[in-house]
Amino acid sequence: MSAEQAIGAGSLPVFRNEPYTDFSVPANCREMEGSLDAVRAAFGREYELRIAGERVKTGELLDSHNPSRPGETVGLHHKATPQLARQAIEATHAFFPEWSRTPAAKRVQMLLRASAILRRRKYEFDAWLVYEAGKSWMEAEADVSEAIDFCEYYAREMLRLGSSRPTVQLPGEKDELVYVPLGVGVVIPPWNFPLAILAGMTVAALVAGNTAVIKPSSDTPTIAAKFAEVLDEAGFPPRAFSLLAGSGSVIGDVLVRHPLTRFISFTGSKDVGLRINELAARHQPGQRWIKRVIAEMGGKDAIVVDSEADLDSAVTGVVASAFGYQGQKCSACSRAIVDTAVYGEFLDKLKPKVEQLTVGPAEDPSNYMGPVINEAARRAILNYIDIGKTEGRLVAGGGPAPGEGYFIQPTVIADVPPEARIFQEEIFGPVLAVTKARDFDHALELANRTDYGLTGAVYTKNPKKLQAARERFFAGNLYLNRKCTGAMVGAHPFGGFNLSGTDSKAGGPDYLLLFLQAKAIAEKL
Ligand code: NAP
Repeated sequence: MSAEQAIGAGSLPVFRNEPYTDFSVPANCREMEGSLDAVRAAFGREYELRIAGERVKTGELLDSHNPSRPGETVGLHHKATPQLARQAIEATHAFFPEWSRTPAAKRVQMLLRASAILRRRKYEFDAWLVYEAGKSWMEAEADVSEAIDFCEYYAREMLRLGSSRPTVQLPGEKDELVYVPLGVGVVIPPWNFPLAILAGMTVAALVAGNTAVIKPSSDTPTIAAKFAEVLDEAGFPPRAFSLLAGSGSVIGDVLVRHPLTRFISFTGSKDVGLRINELAARHQPGQRWIKRVIAEMGGKDAIVVDSEADLDSAVTGVVASAFGYQGQKCSACSRAIVDTAVYGEFLDKLKPKVEQLTVGPAEDPSNYMGPVINEAARRAILNYIDIGKTEGRLVAGGGPAPGEGYFIQPTVIADVPPEARIFQEEIFGPVLAVTKARDFDHALELANRTDYGLTGAVYTKNPKKLQAARERFFAGNLYLNRKCTGAMVGAHPFGGFNLSGTDSKAGGPDYLLLFLQAKAIAEKL
């Protein structure tokens, strides 16, 4: 019986994106406040490592803190050593034969349960994201909703791929193609979508029948530990995954190099992604496969504002894309490329909107922007702002914002030339470079003048120019007359070109194939 038949596909509703909680409803607001209090009361707990079902303490603790109030410890996590990293790969690999033979329908059922648990615990996860990642309520809500979407979407995808695929039938033969899992994979997410990306990469691996060693970001290990609780409650066997808090620079290479590692699913910076790709390519003694690397990396995303754009809507889109979650999205707009005919007017409209943005502790919903993730990020971003002041003209912001957290003013620097560092390098903070283009063709050419190719947007009312953007704007996710952030699972499969990554298209119909290999079977009748 196919997975599809087993689960009764007819009874599974069509995929729909998880609706966001409306925090303007007083009852929802009260519930969120209650969750923030309850989660704060659980601060400072100790979390053990999980190695294929075994709980391990090393005594050396990683302290994750609240970037809005750096004195507050959110969670204390035992840190993995290189020896434990090796052990985790071996123990998690040992469970692969059993897990890979678990019927796909059963794995799908577990995943649907995980989605239901996340939905039930949504406010609680929102609160962990507010505290550990510095997300505003709405940004946290979008992150948790996306995690639910990944579970629901990949469950349906596995039903589709879990049945044998139609092939041409030769006379006298029964011919079929089936998808089989790969082995043990290493899952390495970033901190900026500490639930959605971690959950998405993990459940894609697991539902496809692989086992996984998860190495969460050192900035957000508590959210990872909470997600592991969800997997437990959903019925995923504890031996199917390991969760290793610990420094990427200490255990990352060990996990990637290990000869039993079959694939690496990474999302993070370009430098770390390129390193992983290089290390994974080197054959190790005893290794019996070419490792597969799925690497989604940085961005230097541009919004083109044409002379024929609706300027108010372009300004709204640029502000939301550049400063939502403090500009710490791989899809964030860090370059506005504006036609010379509307350049002055665009800046006149942009400046007051940016100056109105409020910055402060993320748990206070009156703040549009919270803190950046940590002190090192704060320093690096402020350094880029100083560089930007020499490369262009400061229009808004330009320094730290008051408060004990890692707060930075939303900053706009205009007249930035395309060779400037702030036009070329990913800053990953609330800093927008504005550059003048001679005309629309020049704007598209400037938008493409970067090593990256993740997201981009164009604002124009001219259909011919929209068509030109469709053909010539080289980005994995292109948006027309809307902001360049906020990809939705199913509608906007996500992944970048060039040094933005392997274009894996998370949340799309090609994604699970990256965690599977196809086996063709021909039987002579
Ligand atoms: P990062 O510094 O590259 O870290 C990402 C992950 O890699 C973390 O878990 C980190 O662990 C780990 N790591 C560090 N060194 C490693 C090594 N040598 N081997 C293996 N793993 C290692 O990135 P980040 O600061 O967390 O995230 C921000 C970046 O992610 C930005 O560049 C952003 O554009 C990108 N991003 C891309 C996408 C996308 O879909 N394209 C989505 C989100 C974010 P530690 O925390 O312990 O160092």
